[in-house]
Parts: sequence; structure tokens; C-alpha cells
Amino acid sequence: MPEIGTVAVVGAGPAGSLCAYHLARAGLPVLLLERARLPRRKACGGGLTPKAAGLLPFPFRPVVEGEVTEALLCLPGEVTLEIRWERTVCFLVERERLDAYLTEQARRAGARLREGEAVICVEESPEAVTLTTASGATHQVQLVIGADGAHSVVARSLGHLPPRHFALAAALVPPAEWAGRKGTILIDLGALSYGYGWVFPKSDHLNAGVVSGTVHCLRPVWENFLKRSGLLGQPQLWLQAYPLSLAGEKKEFGRGRIMLIGDAAGLVDPLTGEGLYAAFKLAELAAQAVVEAGPGRLAGQRYNQLVKESLLREYHFARRLANLFYRFLPFIARYFALRPEKARYFWEFLFFGGYSELFREVGARYWEKLFAG
Ligand SMILES: Cc1cc2nc3c(=O)[nH]c(=O)nc-3n(C[C@H](O)[C@H](O)[C@H](O)COP(=O)(O)OP(=O)(O)OC[C@H]3O[C@@H](n4cnc5c(N)ncnc54)[C@H](O)[C@@H]3O)c2cc1C
Repeated sequence: MPEIGTVAVVGAGPAGSLCAYHLARAGLPVLLLERARLPRRKACGGGLTPKAAGLLPFPFRPVVEGEVTEALLCLPGEVTLEIRWERTVCFLVERERLDAYLTEQARRAGARLREGEAVICVEESPEAVTLTTASGATHQVQLVIGADGAHSVVARSLGHLPPRHFALAAALVPPAEWAGRKGTILIDLGALSYGYGWVFPKSDHLNAGVVSGTVHCLRPVWENFLKRSGLLGQPQLWLQAYPLSLAGEKKEFGRGRIMLIGDAAGLVDPLTGEGLYAAFKLAELAAQAVVEAGPGRLAGQRYNQLVKESLLREYHFARRLANLFYRFLPFIARYFALRPEKARYFWEFLFFGGYSELFREVGARYWEKLFAG
């Protein structure tokens, strides 16, 4: 049955669900197509920074499992810093719960959710876009928003290549020494090149993983990280590697009646591997483009413009900062080891600030605190 007039969002992850929510709230008919049955697992650390959480237009506390106020920062050169903050610098969530919660918000706002519908083909014509799903059903819609993650079928329809980088996450049974450390995370910058290993304590397990912008075979670095963090041999509840669409690999985010958001758009933070902030921001920008340009052929163009003016500029700085940070990490580590309070400001900025803000508004303040005597 043709559904002209409808906006279809492909993928009910954080990006798709939030975008469907915004569009439905703006009064547009929204069809949300999800391949899996929810709740479903997604390999993720589940670190939700305040800057990402600040983009959620409804309460998110119901799905928070922990609040970070302390970090063990392991630096190259075998130095470990203990950093404490007086406020929460990051929320810890379980993706099954977060994603199901966001999808429920979209549904309540009026989006029509179809679970178990994997889109396998996207065809654009001057008047509409036709989506074909694995069951053989077709949906003819006015506009398509591809939120189908790093392996995006919608992105492929625009000629985009799949990402080249991977991250790995696992759920581990916590050893005794992690009991009572609910607000403490571990970040190990010495475990691998151009990346880090993490341990995030959740309510009933430890989420641990490794991410790198250069290492493609993660198994050996994962084992090295487990050894370094004293977690080798801990029983694993699950382990998953998943592609990471780091910012810088894609230049076009919308064309005609098709737009890409979240990992499908490929704007994961090149320094931290954070993807939820970009997922939420792009969801907001895509909905704004549809509202401003209408659900037709001009929406993609408007969306491109909005992304270039905001997030792309921000991640341009992020890429440069990431290159400098990882290239000069041994020197930066020595500096942080001598001045742990500077490490505290730097991490606070990563959790709270936007990159362009760093260089613009709060920049002066942070840089002053980082480098002033
Ligand atoms: C190991 C690892 C750890 C990470 N840790 C963090 C972290 O701690 N904090 C952070 O901010 N970011 C983290 N990220 C990044 C973050 O997980 C992603 O950026 C985020 O999931 C992007 O959300 P999304 O909605 O774009 O895509 P996804 O979460 O991948 O959701 C895509 C959805 O689309 C559905 N789908 C896929 N194909 C189709 C199809 N053909 N038809 C219909 N539906 C489809 C999928 O089932 C899924 O529900 C991590 C990534 C990895 C790999």
C-alpha cells in the first residue's frame, strides 16, 4: 500500500527512535521500521555523557544504571591517576533498556513502529522512495531517514562504503575488588595505540571493551587490556565486536529524499568513540530539516547544510585534536602525571563540552585551566 505523505525512519536505535519522536511531535506521520525485535543487544559501553543526555527532550533517569564521579586513568608509562569530580560527569546505561525506552517515547509521540522488518532495498524516484523489506513488503514514502547503524543499507543506497574501524565490548562478571566501585570507571590509554580500553561498572556486571582508530585486529589488544586491568579470566556473559563509523569518513549526509543519521551518517567522535551524542544531535537536525524544508526533495539539501554548519565543524576540530592527542600521548601522559588536575579538566571537557565550544566559548577557560601555571 503506498504511504505517500509519510516519513519512514529505518532503524529504531537511539538515532532513529529520537528522530521519530521529534518528527511525530512536529505532527508528521512517521513509520519506524526496525529489523530486530526489541529489546535487542548492541555492543556499546553505555557511557551517556551529559552533553548527549542534554539532547533528550524527556527524562532519561529511569534507564540510568550508574553515575560516574571517579575515574582511574591509566597512562602510558604505567602511571595511574585517580581523578575525582564533585558532580556526575557521565551516566552509565544498558543499551537494551535505553533503546527500548527511546523507542517507547517515539511510539507514544505517535510514530508507528514495525519490529522485525529489515529493509533490504531503497529506491528513490522523483515523487517518492520505495523501501522493500526482507518479508517482501514494500513501503512507498515521501522521505527516508536512514538510522540503520554502521552497516546501513540506506547509506549504501547513496553509495557510501561501510566503516573500516571496529570496537569491542563485553560484559564480565565483576571480581571482588570492583564491588562497591559503582561510580568509578577505568580508562586505559596505555593498552593500545590510538585508542583506549575501558571498564564501566553496571548494576550487575562490568562492561569492558577496547576501541582504536588504527588497530583493526582487536583480539590481541583486548587480551592485553584484560591482563593490564586484572580482568583476565573473569567469566564473560557476552562479547561483541561492532563497526565504528568514525567522523571524517563521510562528507554527505543527505541527498534528495534520503537522509542519514547516527552511525549510518558516520560521525562517531574520533577521540573518544562516543556515538550517542552525534546520534541524538543528528536526529534533531534531520527533524529540523524536514520541518523547515518540508518532507520532500529539498529536505536532504537542508539537512546537509545544517550538519555542515554544526556537527561537521565540531568534528573537524575533534579530528585534529584526536590526531594531536594520540600522536603526542607519551608527552601528554607525562604532563598529566605531573599535573593530575589538568587531566581532570580535560576529561570534564570531553564529557560536557562540544569541540567547537572548546575552541570558542569555554575554550579560553579550559585551556587556561589546562595550561596555566
Ligand atoms: C563496542 C562499542 C562501544 C561503544 N561505546 C559507546 C559509549 O560508551 N558511548 C557512546 O556514546 N557511544 C558508544 N559507542 C557508539 C554507539 O554505540 C553508536 O554510535 C550508537 O549505537 C549509534 O546509534 P544508532 O541509532 O545510529 O545505531 P544503532 O545503535 O546501531 O541502531 C541501529 C538500529 O537499526 C536497526 N537496523 C539495522 N539494519 C536495519 C535494516 N536493514 N532495516 C531495519 N532496521 C535496521 C538495528 O537493529 C538497530 O536497532 C560504542 C560503539 C561500539 C561499537
